Amino acid sequence: MSENPLRNLPSVDQLLQHPLLQPFVQQASRNAVVQRVRSVLDDVRHAVSSKEGPTAVPTPQEIADTVVGWMKKQQSQKLRAVINATGVLLHTGLGRAPLPRVASEEIQRLGETYCSLEFELSDGSRGKRTAAVESLLCELTGAEAATVVNNNAAATMLTLAALCHNREVIVSRGQLVEIGGSYRLPDVMTSAGCRLVEVGTTNKTRIEDYRAAINENTAAILRVHPSNFVIFGFTENATLKELSALAASKGIPLIDDIGSGALIDFRQFGLMDEPMVSESIQRGAPVALFSGDKLLGGPQCGIIVGRKNEIATIMRHPLMRAFRVGKLTLSALQATLELYRDPNKAMEEIPLLRLLNTQPENLQLRAKRMVQQLTGHPLIATVSAIQSEATLGGGSLPTQQLPSVAVAIQPQTVSLEELAAGLRLGPVSVVARVQDGQLLLDLKSVQANQDRLIVEAFNDLSK
Ligand SMILES: *Cc1c(COP(=O)(O)O)cnc(C)c1O
Repeated sequence: MSENPLRNLPSVDQLLQHPLLQPFVQQASRNAVVQRVRSVLDDVRHAVSSKEGPTAVPTPQEIADTVVGWMKKQQSQKLRAVINATGVLLHTGLGRAPLPRVASEEIQRLGETYCSLEFELSDGSRGKRTAAVESLLCELTGAEAATVVNNNAAATMLTLAALCHNREVIVSRGQLVEIGGSYRLPDVMTSAGCRLVEVGTTNKTRIEDYRAAINENTAAILRVHPSNFVIFGFTENATLKELSALAASKGIPLIDDIGSGALIDFRQFGLMDEPMVSESIQRGAPVALFSGDKLLGGPQCGIIVGRKNEIATIMRHPLMRAFRVGKLTLSALQATLELYRDPNKAMEEIPLLRLLNTQPENLQLRAKRMVQQLTGHPLIATVSAIQSEATLGGGSLPTQQLPSVAVAIQPQTVSLEELAAGLRLGPVSVVARVQDGQLLLDLKSVQANQDRLIVEAFNDLSK
């Protein structure tokens, strides 16, 4: 009878002493390494005992390698700061808008202490959670009332559930959008318990189409801003003004999903089609919805502004409790909105607006300096500054190109993919764009004080 191969299996204690695993025991967590070693040993025992005949037992080195692979994977999954050199300013994968300094300071200040979240300091009674941001939002958009939830998807769902449950909602066929992932408007409608009534065609929907669809079961008209696609050519769409007049004459609300929700005019940055929230309110939309972490440049949240009556109905709905935001979000949003009281201040202090406002000449200078600093790097064959097109993001189809400058790199001794991965996984994580056989560092999405860190990331690679 042959010897039980499992006898040769090293013990947990022996493995913890292995030179490959010692750094993780010292620097990460002994418990984490022990758990992983145990689970690898269990797998080996299972594999060996479930097979007939002799089976090779892995060496301590092989087991240690498996454990190291897992520990490294876990470390790379940790939420880390990254430098966004993709040229996509609102990159959903990279957390969309970076926060203004005052907002992150406010998160810290209010995060580590108690705060007057739902507490009326004047008389000690129960207060309203979103009171402070509500009044700021009304001031900045001209709306009568406002509230805040977890994101714009939640804002849409909640608004439809509160105002349109069991009734019909009219939407243009050109606006039945998919925003990304599992967010498809028709599915959201169904989940909110509404019946979707499609009108018009993909490229043309006239006000008469809406008018003809209204009956006694109609709860609202929903208008959705095409954030991540364009339909051009033979097109026509009912205007906001026409829609709000029609809705008002029939006594139903118009719900305007503005998407990005600009609080200032983005035409100054060359972005022509981004509607301002205040325009939507001025033209009579009773309810307008938008995100906090897109063009507003604040924390992830969904903002609902509009008429007192509709907002009050929305806030009474049970889903409001499920979608509400916490004090960290509210403190960041409050600080960001306060910046908008002075548009110049907003422009200087909100990172997204600063990035949008950085001119190509400035990017060109920065790119040239970076090219000089990277020339001669052992992993770089060629490096030069080239013209590039950055995008706003928020969808796979870029609708607006922003003129930009990128540092273009051809590697040597490593492949493009290896270089890109090395930059992502280094001590300073840099996410670049691989395009046309080059690695591009698009500076439109890089904050000026991060240029130095990108060069550092390359230097770390050659150590
Ligand atoms: C981005 C977007 C949404 C979803 O907003 P989130 O804040 O990501 O949930 C909904 N509608 C439109 C038009 C959008 O652009």
